[in-house]
Order: sequence, then C-alpha cells, then structure tokens
Amino acid sequence: MSTGYVWHEQYAWHDTGTGAGLLPAGGYLQPFANFESPESKTRFAGLVEVSGMLDNLTRVPARPATEADVLRVHTPGYLERIKSASASAGGDAGDGMSPFGAGAYEIALLSAGGTIAATEAVLTGRTENAYALVRPPGHHAVRDTGMGYCIFSNISIAIEWARAVHGIRRVAVVDYDVHHGNGTQSVYEDDADVLTISLHQEGLFPQDSGEMEDHGPAGTALNIPLPAGCGNDAYTEAVRRVVVPALHRFAPELIVVASGFDASAADPLGRMTVTTAGYRSMTAQLVQAAREICSGRLVMSHEGGYSPVYTPFCGLAVLEALSGHDTGVGDPFDATWGNSPQHPLTPAQDAVLSAAEEIAGRLRLTLPTGANTN
Ligand code: ZN
Repeated sequence: MSTGYVWHEQYAWHDTGTGAGLLPAGGYLQPFANFESPESKTRFAGLVEVSGMLDNLTRVPARPATEADVLRVHTPGYLERIKSASASAGGDAGDGMSPFGAGAYEIALLSAGGTIAATEAVLTGRTENAYALVRPPGHHAVRDTGMGYCIFSNISIAIEWARAVHGIRRVAVVDYDVHHGNGTQSVYEDDADVLTISLHQEGLFPQDSGEMEDHGPAGTALNIPLPAGCGNDAYTEAVRRVVVPALHRFAPELIVVASGFDASAADPLGRMTVTTAGYRSMTAQLVQAAREICSGRLVMSHEGGYSPVYTPFCGLAVLEALSGHDTGVGDPFDATWGNSPQHPLTPAQDAVLSAAEEIAGRLRLTLPTGANTN
C-alpha cells in the first residue's frame, strides 16, 4: 500500500492580502492577515517533513492544470477574468471576500493541477490513495465565479480530467470541511453519475445552502448539516451511518474527499470540536470503504482549516490513516481537546443523524441491475 503526496512551495505564495480575518485593510482594525493565509498549510507541510511522514509517502509532483482542464468545469468568461486580474494587481474571485494578488491565476492552475496529479497517481496504480495539499482551496467555486476563498473547483477539474482521460464515469465526493461544499454540488447538480456528500455545520457558509432536503435536480447530492458543537462521535457516526452506506449503494469507481480541517476544536471559523481522533476515524472508514468499493482508489484534496497550530496535527492524522504509517508524533493537544465533554453523541445529534440516514435511504443511488459502470 502506498500514499501519494502533493505539495508545492508556490501554494504558500497565493497572496490574500493584509486584511484582518474577514475585514479588508483600511477599516477600524490594524491590518493582519486573511483567515485564508498560508500559515496552516505550510505548517502542515512542515510537520509532514519533520515527523518523517514524508519518507513514507510517494512524492507526486504538482503540475499546472491546462486551460482546457479548467474549461471542462468553468466558463471561459470567468477564466479570463481571473487571468486578467492576476496579470495586473490582483482582484477578488467573486464574492468580495476572496481576495487574490498578482500571479494567483498560475497558482490556482497549480492547485487544480496538483489535484489532477494526485488523481493520476491513483488511477494509474502508482499509489493506492493520495493527498493533495493544495492552495487555494476549491469546494465553494461554482462554474462562473469563485467564492469563499476558492478560485477554481480543484476537485471538479480533477474529476472531469479523470473522466476525459481515464474513462471514469461514476465518482463520489465526500466533503468534511465545516462549510457546505456548495460549489462541487452545483457543478454536479444535474449529473446522476456524481454523488456529492457534504458534512457541514448547519447554516454556516454559505448560510442558505446545504439543507438536508436539498438533493439537487439529479437527486445525487447528500447533505448532512450538523448542529454547531459536534465532536468526534457525531462526525465518526455520520460517516459510519450515512456516508459509508451511501458510498456502497452508489458504487463509484473513484472517491474524492474535500479535506478541510475547519471542523477542528481550534478553528476560528467553525464551531465544531473535532480532534485528530475524529479525523483519523473518518479517514480510516473512508479508506476501508474505498477498498471494498473501488480498489482503494481514494484522492484527498485540501480545502479549509484555519488554525495554524492544530491543522497540521489533524492533517498528519489523516495521512497516517491513509498510509498506515504511524509517525509516533501523536496529538500534543489531546489533553486539552481530546477529553472534551462535547465528543459523546448527544440525543439531539443522534436525531439529526437518524434523519440523515432516513433521507439518504430514499435517494436513488443504486445502479439499475445489469448497468455497466464503464
Ligand atoms: Zn471551510
């Protein structure tokens, strides 16, 4: 078993400016850094190296996505808008809270292309699974605009590449970022061959999307909005009771994970309490499901996660579960967050999971008997 790993120094060079969190510079608060800064990602990459994990992974070089790759998903007008702004002083991807500096277009191509490279490693059998530690993130970007720090839909671009180049048809996306994977869902809302599953904090971002009853026109969007405050048990049980059964019924040829760490106990943007144990458990279940369903083919593409000090350990736990290699580093914050009383499943959380199970059971995910997945 082997795990591919993508990281490129230029992912850290994507310039989101000197605003303070969500606020643009120039208001009442001293300029600082956008929440979506390089800090959590470079420290994750640093821990991968310092922990020795890197020596147990297969390095997969990032490469830029081509314009043709991007245009399988995004509109030509949107691509040109990003390219043009990037060639001058920069701009905003679309919602006024996704700033980017000069050169962002090339880095966004490298981010989408890094996810393609990870997908290629898995589909060619070079590695069993892969983690693309890419930036900028992608799961909020829709076809004609970026939003929520995302420029291009990295995962959708990789899926469409896999379909065009490798003849893949059915793909499942599992998104455990604390925010709704609205962009990925919108790209595939009319496509019954792509199942998009999103676990997210209810009503967080975008505030008006990701409701449990929203399945999209094709009926293959599965939304699991969780109440604020969920910890390891709620996430682990959601994957066990809802996500894994849906994956088995859908029988994808490839599983792609939108891997955000903003449901962590230390995140400034999410209000969940997941620790390394929760991420490790979710990943182990997804690895097992992929082995049972699609020869282990699992690709993870990095999304959110804004704690510079805790995201690295959550990410390392995911890589340990993907690769089966124990670095021995553990979780130095576990004494603080691991024994929180917010981890055991509450009756209210259990009721939400029961409702999600019931709704997921109603989705028509199973292929007709005799249907050819190739
Ligand atoms: Zn997020």
